[in-house]
Amino acid sequence: THFGFRDVPTGDKQKLVGQVFSSVAGSYDLMNDLMSLGIHRVWKRYFVATAQVRRGDRVLDLAGGTGDIALLLKDRVGDTGSIVLGDINGDMLRVGRDRMVDRGKVAGFEYVQMNAEALPFPDASFDLVTIAFGLRNVTDKDAALREMHRVLKVGGQARVLEFSEVTQDWFKPIYDFHSFKVLPRLGKLFAGDAYSYQYLAESIRKHPPQDELKAMMGAAGFARAGYRNLSGGIVAIHTGYKA
Ligand code: SAM
Repeated sequence: THFGFRDVPTGDKQKLVGQVFSSVAGSYDLMNDLMSLGIHRVWKRYFVATAQVRRGDRVLDLAGGTGDIALLLKDRVGDTGSIVLGDINGDMLRVGRDRMVDRGKVAGFEYVQMNAEALPFPDASFDLVTIAFGLRNVTDKDAALREMHRVLKVGGQARVLEFSEVTQDWFKPIYDFHSFKVLPRLGKLFAGDAYSYQYLAESIRKHPPQDELKAMMGAAGFARAGYRNLSGGIVAIHTGYKA
């Protein structure tokens, strides 16, 4: 099916995002490698390596998709820790769970289908909450950030890894060419689906840039909201704490 993203009213965004991720679930991991030339693996490793987390911690990975972040986090929380992988899309969750089980990773993982805007957990449930390449797909980002804050324990950290605004002017035309010309073609060639990859490129451009997201985190209640750019702002890691 084909649908024009630009023509979709915002109320339908959630449905659209559902269709996009159901469509890409099977080819998602391959496409990540192709689109980013494998660099997404480095960003994710850095995101998890620098997280405030200890052995035995309980962690929520929102929009966890096929489980890249959850897998890396498990090494940090150890056998006594646990990871809840939450995603709104059942197809992505299934691919993630199968992948984990295939690698022999079973104990210490839970899979919960959930909307980041309304988390099915009591207050102060987690030591760390992460969301990687997920926030830009959420319709009500302020609600999601407030929920992340609510389910954190005092002293806990929230981390957001997301595409952001490139800081170097000379790089912008190259990046745009890659996003709007190369990406949809890769999508068509390898996943038979140009549209979903065009959506991804457009959703990156619509996402709030570094300072705006930082302000949103402060407004959601986080203390010491801040960010760090990776790869010249192609992505940024935002952090905040529950005081
Ligand atoms: N975190 C994974 C990674 O880094 O590879 C997956 C990222 S994938 C680009 C985005 C994920 O966000 C999809 O699996 C999608 O289903 C999920 N998602 C979109 N809207 C959501 C929402 N409102 N609540 C929870 N998950 C959502």
